[in-house]
Amino acid sequence: MSESSRFSRCVFNFKNYLFRSHAVSFYSKLLSAERLAPEALNLLNWQKRKEMATFAFEHTTFYRDFYGAQGITLDDLKKPDTFSRLPILTKKEIRARFDDLIADTAHPAYYYRATTGGSTGEPLTVLHDRRPPLEAAAWRMMRWWGIEPSDDMAFIYRLRRKFPYSVLNDIMWWPTKRISLDASLMTDASMRDFLGRYESLKPVVLQGYTGSVYEFALFLRDNNLTITPPKAVWVTSAPLSEGQRTIMQTVFGAPVYDQYGTCEVMWLAAECKERNGLHINHDLRYIEFVDDDGKPVPDGEWGRILITDLENKVFPLIRYEIGDRGRRLTRTCPCGINLPLMDKVRGRITDVVRLPNGTIISGEFLTTIFDDHPEAVAAFQIHQKADLSITLKCVPGIDPNAKEIIEKAHRNLQTNVGDAVPVTLELVDQIPHDRGKTRFIISEREAI
Ligand SMILES: [Zn+2]
Repeated sequence: MSESSRFSRCVFNFKNYLFRSHAVSFYSKLLSAERLAPEALNLLNWQKRKEMATFAFEHTTFYRDFYGAQGITLDDLKKPDTFSRLPILTKKEIRARFDDLIADTAHPAYYYRATTGGSTGEPLTVLHDRRPPLEAAAWRMMRWWGIEPSDDMAFIYRLRRKFPYSVLNDIMWWPTKRISLDASLMTDASMRDFLGRYESLKPVVLQGYTGSVYEFALFLRDNNLTITPPKAVWVTSAPLSEGQRTIMQTVFGAPVYDQYGTCEVMWLAAECKERNGLHINHDLRYIEFVDDDGKPVPDGEWGRILITDLENKVFPLIRYEIGDRGRRLTRTCPCGINLPLMDKVRGRITDVVRLPNGTIISGEFLTTIFDDHPEAVAAFQIHQKADLSITLKCVPGIDPNAKEIIEKAHRNLQTNVGDAVPVTLELVDQIPHDRGKTRFIISEREAI
């Protein structure tokens, strides 16, 4: 370890000791939990699930109605076999009864709002409980890869922070250095500039949207450029194919780790160094795999993923259908971590939009274009034709200003694209499904 990274680590630990001592103790709990015997882990998970279900029943109108309509009582929720009979929570219910999902104990200081376009293009808002220090879940995961949260990092994401918040962020992270590339518009020039900053920093970790990090790898490969290998490449937000992984590992000269998380429930699962499945954060989340009738599928079989957040006591999400498909893996991992394994997720297909001049607009970014006004669209889709022209299809939502908001998003998208290709807006009644799943970006251009 270099002098500077040792210094960064000391400062990081000191700051946490002073200001975030509850995160430090939460972290040590997580480190003990990952080594628990599987039976003890399951017991811990069940106790937290029971506590969450009874909390939701007692403190939200929604769950009292939702479970009460099925004849489920508070006593039933304390029996383990009831859980898998609880009705599945869908995006539709969350949108329709948002206010009723907020716990009566939730003080506004306890939460923050998060909106997702999701890979299915159906915007949704949820509330996150800011009390549990979930950054500790990220620290644990980074530990699996032999890296530290205080390590210097390079990001390829949609940039959210603007001046002065970007400066405040730098101060907060000092002396750790962080650089980023804006995934919302990756041009030849912006990627070369990022590469220059990358090489002067030589970060320990490269992190970003799967599709965008992959595009950066292709850019390096096609231009015969190389980077100083980081210790780890951490990708998230969209499924990682083994083909993409091989290319990225060759170009970056570093292992690529897949992490599964969503805007609604973060830190779900991640690969360890073995990369033979993702360890589920079973002490923080409960993940189920069910068939089309909502019945559990046997281990090893693919099913719809249901997520229960065991920590969010502001806006409980219990058996929430995220819209992805996955499967449990029964093997144990030689790494020594006993958290159960799941396979890489299927179904969150995001593509990129590629302009004639080679500029790339990340699909993960495009899912966020209605984040400030989730009520304005019920669903949306971006369709790129073979001639590279783009159509934004929108099903207007319940926002009284839906039309204006959609038109503004259309203009912004055209501004982003420039005059490279036309962007047409189409208001539609519904977006067609592809095998039960809405594709967010449909691309007719030839694969490059
Ligand atoms: Zn492992």
